[in-house]
Amino acid sequence: MRRRTFCTSALAYISTMPLALRAFAASGAEASAEIPVIRRQGGEGFVSRKDCDDLRASLRGALLLSSDPGYDNARHLWNGAFDRHPAMIAKCAGAADVIQAVNFARAHDLLVAVRGGGHSFSGQSACDKGLMIDLSLMHSVHVDPVLRRTRVEPGAMLGEFDREAQSFGLVTTAGAVSHTGVAGLTLGGGFGRLARRFGLACDNLRAADVVTADGRLVETSANENPDLLWGLRGGGGNFGIVTSFEYGLHPAGPIMYGGDLLFAASDARAILTQFAGFAAEAPDEMYVAGGMWTDEKLGPIVGFNICYCGRPEDGERAIAPLRTFRKPVRDRLGPTPYVRMQTDFDATYPWGWGYYERSGFIKKLTPEVIDSVIAIMDAPYPADADIYFVHQGGAIARTKPEATAFWHRDPLFALLIETDWHDPSDGRARDESMQWARTQWAALQKFTDGFYVNELSADDPHARVRSTYGGNYTRLVQLKKKYDPKNLFHMNANVPPSEV
Ligand SMILES: Cc1cc2nc3c(=O)[nH]c(=O)nc-3n(C[C@H](O)[C@H](O)[C@H](O)COP(=O)(O)OP(=O)(O)OC[C@H]3O[C@@H](n4cnc5c(N)ncnc54)[C@H](O)[C@@H]3O)c2cc1C
Repeated sequence: MRRRTFCTSALAYISTMPLALRAFAASGAEASAEIPVIRRQGGEGFVSRKDCDDLRASLRGALLLSSDPGYDNARHLWNGAFDRHPAMIAKCAGAADVIQAVNFARAHDLLVAVRGGGHSFSGQSACDKGLMIDLSLMHSVHVDPVLRRTRVEPGAMLGEFDREAQSFGLVTTAGAVSHTGVAGLTLGGGFGRLARRFGLACDNLRAADVVTADGRLVETSANENPDLLWGLRGGGGNFGIVTSFEYGLHPAGPIMYGGDLLFAASDARAILTQFAGFAAEAPDEMYVAGGMWTDEKLGPIVGFNICYCGRPEDGERAIAPLRTFRKPVRDRLGPTPYVRMQTDFDATYPWGWGYYERSGFIKKLTPEVIDSVIAIMDAPYPADADIYFVHQGGAIARTKPEATAFWHRDPLFALLIETDWHDPSDGRARDESMQWARTQWAALQKFTDGFYVNELSADDPHARVRSTYGGNYTRLVQLKKKYDPKNLFHMNANVPPSEV
């Protein structure tokens, strides 16, 4: 009893102190009493341990504070450049946990980050001193082969999704690295080796369950709350936390035709010019992405990654104009299981390195773009840097820009300037890499129009985010006002509810 009285009065005393003093007290003997937090709009404050204990007791999953085992592991993201320390991490085991976490965040007016697969380039899925809502425990994939549909939880990785669907001879578009998360990828759009044939991942999204900012679980489909489904298809994580995605599936695979095709960079201009024409005329089944970088063994190269999702023999014929144009220094094209092809780049982008990227859409690979890229790659550049063109068009371009929240339908490529450094604590390597990418971006940005919200950089100003939503922006703001009027979910390519 006496002890209880002491604690209560100590708490009452701390809560009357100015914030700086309270932080000092909270870091001392009473460290367990209050946890310093950052509020939704950036102010500082505290949450009592008692409230955290209540939240923990309400979860089927776990609540991790900084002193808990597993906290460090859970806070880390794929991009090691972001080393953030949330005040607490709610590891959700199901939709009920997500509701509890959202209600807690709203009640305490906390900064919120939402983590699906943890692959945000700009580190948006973790936050300093806020509540990180971690969905990684929720990763089931259930395929209905008769209806050709799949229900996927938001912590699933693309590899899990591909493998389950392919075991029934089915696919839908997923990204090119199998350890990327399904959730963030789909909500921002979702490019991949099959997108020219089957559309973006978000185009294949048929329904979803969403926990909105008011803590309701809202079902959305063509018949129920279709406005919300429209927003989830390209509008990012703005409207709530998706706890279940339903996709339509298509018969394809298991064997497709593709792999890597590399040429010496000495002939870059001719090869990239051939690529520009080839990519523009390619059938929907053909995906050919490529660019320039330095291979450890082969030196500077112009390289392509190819996937033909029709009959392998047709793929072999279709790729010939690029394959035989010059003598390749590496040719690993052949019939390949799709699920294996989807892991080809996994080791190139390991967890925990520092990464930085700038990107934008381009409609055509013109001689000016080719010359500019060659000039950049003729000069010295960081060891792991590259400039890369992701092939788009096909089915992506046949959906109208206003049919989903994803606006930029007509570019033929996304241009990526990518760089990484293996030790994220190496400040010099980081600065050199980022400086290189920023300089090249300054030279190439003029060729681009809009960018992919999933490649948002921490450097991108809001005006750029706004303009990439194009003619859909006003509708997105209305939707934001309806489902998240206080902008609880703003760690994303944000659509603030106040702007029209
Ligand atoms: C190595 C690598 C390869 C990539 N390749 C491709 C590619 O081929 N094609 C492509 O289109 N993109 C690609 N991307 C970009 C990718 O789409 C984004 O990084 C995407 O955000 C990853 O999703 P995630 O769930 O892993 O991310 P997370 O970091 O977990 O989440 C990113 C953001 O998505 C939102 N979010 C996540 N889960 C939810 C949810 N359940 N509900 C609401 N909002 C949520 C949040 O705003 C969060 O900040 C790649 C990224 C990497 C790092």
